[in-house]
Amino acid sequence: MNETALEKEPGMLMLCATPIGNLSDMSPRIVETLKSADLIACEDTRCSIKLLNHFDIHTPMTSYHEFNKYKKADQLIAQLKEGKNIALISDAGTPAISDPGEVLVKLCHESGIRVTSLPGPCACITALTLSGLPARRFVFEGFLPENKKERDEVLSDLETEKRTMILYCGPHDLVKTLKLLNERLGNRELAICRELTKKYETVINTTIEDALIFYDSNPPRGEYVLVLAGRSREEIMLERSQNFSGLSMEEHVEMYEKKGLDRKESMKAVAKDRGIPKREVYNALL
Ligand code: SAM
Repeated sequence: MNETALEKEPGMLMLCATPIGNLSDMSPRIVETLKSADLIACEDTRCSIKLLNHFDIHTPMTSYHEFNKYKKADQLIAQLKEGKNIALISDAGTPAISDPGEVLVKLCHESGIRVTSLPGPCACITALTLSGLPARRFVFEGFLPENKKERDEVLSDLETEKRTMILYCGPHDLVKTLKLLNERLGNRELAICRELTKKYETVINTTIEDALIFYDSNPPRGEYVLVLAGRSREEIMLERSQNFSGLSMEEHVEMYEKKGLDRKESMKAVAKDRGIPKREVYNALL
């Protein structure tokens, strides 16, 4: 026997999804994994102890949250390298979705540590499937950033988003978020999904403006996921054509030439703006 033979194989990070409100959604595989892990990293030990007690899981816990996500990740990586198998859970739902798990996963990949994900509840997917809005193409935004500059950037991306959008929102931010969405994106179809998987699960199919009227006299309570309709292609085309309706075709092409595009590229951009075939632009300029 030599020293190399005594070296332990690295352990594995196991992402374990936990219920978002209904304990019956806990999978047997995840219960077994949490029982057999050497350590459970969780956002808030006081919150997770209730879940672990319910399933008779006695594995030691350690906290891994937003405010120690880099420093603690280094410690967890060191333990994984020593051969410990670590399960990661969040307060609810799928780890790494709007929680610090993504940092640890990235660092594990960089350190050559195996990561596996045991799927289960996730608020954004549950809401999307319930919303009745197109689910074939969607974007997940999580919480809107608190920082104004970052939030403005996200909102300006969403202004022209054609896919269904999913946002997370706590009760105290709901009205503010709806107002911001109304100001920047305009009134839209919206599904407000509240208390998913719980006794008072509610899905309200409404519009942003009607929701603002409703919450004026009904204070928001519980956890929310907002599922928002993307812009239709027709809406975008109409707006583009209105923006350029005051310009002649020649002026419109010149506008792009002044921006540095050559004649051909400018004509192509004009055709796109106006939703017309390129040939029509060429013919108008002959
Ligand atoms: N990792 C979680 C997941 O898989 O969805 C999300 C964590 S994020 C910190 C918490 C947010 O998820 C809440 O503020 C709320 O927007 C949403 N959420 C979580 N549970 C929910 C539920 N039961 N009903 C509605 N929204 C929920």
